[in-house]
Amino acid sequence: MIRRKADLSERDRLMANLGIPANTIEILQKYNFNFQKKYGQNFLIDTHVLDKIIASAGVGKDDCVLEIGPGIGTMTQYLAENAREVIAVEIDKALIPILEDTLSGYDNVTIMNEDILKVDINKIAEEKNHGQPIKVVANLPYYITTPIIMGLFENHVPLESITVMVQKEVADRMQVGPGTKDYGALSLAVQYYAKPEIVANVPPNCFMPRPSVGSAVIRLTKYKKPPVETTDERHLFSLIRASFNQRRKTLVNGLLNAGNLGVTKEEILLALERMGLSATVRGEALTLEQFARLSNLLMK
Ligand code: SAM
Repeated sequence: MIRRKADLSERDRLMANLGIPANTIEILQKYNFNFQKKYGQNFLIDTHVLDKIIASAGVGKDDCVLEIGPGIGTMTQYLAENAREVIAVEIDKALIPILEDTLSGYDNVTIMNEDILKVDINKIAEEKNHGQPIKVVANLPYYITTPIIMGLFENHVPLESITVMVQKEVADRMQVGPGTKDYGALSLAVQYYAKPEIVANVPPNCFMPRPSVGSAVIRLTKYKKPPVETTDERHLFSLIRASFNQRRKTLVNGLLNAGNLGVTKEEILLALERMGLSATVRGEALTLEQFARLSNLLMK
């Protein structure tokens, strides 16, 4: 659905800016909107945070941006002002008439009433950006943060970066390295594909309704080529998952208990020895580079 362009005056923009809490309240009342907890609906009501997200994502006039879960269109307005083209995918049918209203001043926004986990994002990138890398910018529904982000990476969507609001704890898990309690399969999976950087911490009072957890904006800048060499990506990720399934076990026991790696205890011990690692090392001590080396040795 292509919007018709209207040249908004500065005053109109301010009147319509949903980052201003009074404007959000007015729209919610006008449409008698009921928040759906099951969809993780916490709408942003802070213009500084919105400015910060757009700046951190580096959204500019050449960009094609995918927004996941536009809600009532608060961030979509900011994206439409700054990007060449915006595709906003929203699951909640009740929000579509609201989005058609709040975004009626823009001709560069396409609204899709779909579940982001079911939609073919590669096809969107192909149709809207000739298969060239797109930017993903979103205040994500927290209940599906990991499947959304991993889906974008694993399906090889042409991506420049992903700049998203997520639960603070999840942002920490994506960014940390070995030896910390937050380090795990998500950290390694994200860091295989992208360089993570937390760009802002956001308190609950910047949302309506307020979430019960703290939030953070994280930017994931996609690597052109993964930072480590691996003979088999799937084996590397199976190995990583197996290593963190039982955090308190040694790496050797974790891998053996996984049962799907097809390796013997002797082969694992030999590989660890060749890498100069102890037989009692735990998975949480290994870097991405070490996991890649271990995977390559075990594949031989
Ligand atoms: N972008 C808005 C904002 O910042 O105010 C809303 C963000 S809210 C945290 C998450 C949005 O994602 C909601 O509008 C929700 O309905 C939508 N959503 C939830 N699950 C979805 C899914 N599977 N596919 C697409 N949108 C979804």
